[in-house]
Amino acid sequence: MSIKDNIMSIKKEINEIKEKCNRQDEVNLMAVTKTVDVDKVLEAIDAGITDIGENKPQELARKYDAIGDRVKYHLIGTLQTNKVKYIIDKVYMIHSLDRISLCEEIQKRAEKIDRIINCLVQVNISKEESKHGLDREEVIKFVKEVSEKYKNIRVKGLMTMAPFIEDNEEIRKVFKGLKDLSLEIKELELQNVDMDTLSMGMSHDYGIAIEEGATIIRVGTSIFGKRNYN
Ligand SMILES: *Cc1c(COP(=O)(O)O)cnc(C)c1O
Repeated sequence: MSIKDNIMSIKKEINEIKEKCNRQDEVNLMAVTKTVDVDKVLEAIDAGITDIGENKPQELARKYDAIGDRVKYHLIGTLQTNKVKYIIDKVYMIHSLDRISLCEEIQKRAEKIDRIINCLVQVNISKEESKHGLDREEVIKFVKEVSEKYKNIRVKGLMTMAPFIEDNEEIRKVFKGLKDLSLEIKELELQNVDMDTLSMGMSHDYGIAIEEGATIIRVGTSIFGKRNYN
């Protein structure tokens, strides 16, 4: 199967799932391009991909320099404060907002170039030690603080990763938990907070994520094949 075939078949599946659960809104297929060469990324773009995700800031910057603004660039991995400078003028959305020190840095850099940065708050719904993100209980206080203090950050919604387990019902609970939390926050009607974006679902669990309300799914392996970490 080619990259194009993979994208076509995932898009078909997205539509089938949406139809099955009566969803009329958009589900955006983001291609996760970490470790993927530029020529393959271009193939994906030619096949209709409009958004790509990278987990390393310098790699995002490198892809941006090679590909330009034909696509939107998402930062999906843990973001070290000292690396914000590499992406601030290139990134469309940061999916890993998880601490105030990071907000401070984004605010400082964004203000300088007069940009509003779209961000998602990363939540550790499953409470796995290995997972990054805020605990569910911390999120509302955090979002309120961002809303009040950091005017160049726009909180578009939430992001999570499900645990790598076989139990689909456990995975579903995680995605449902993120959706419920986003609705709870939306009701607060905070300034600079939209809560219209839910980034959840990867190659092995995007079907469940769409059923539970994902608006962006982050898919790498199912588009490009197994990653080669060299
Ligand atoms: C790598 C990665 C993905 C994509 O994972 P696949 O299983 O290859 O689809 C999604 N989200 C994050 C945060 C990632 O780091």
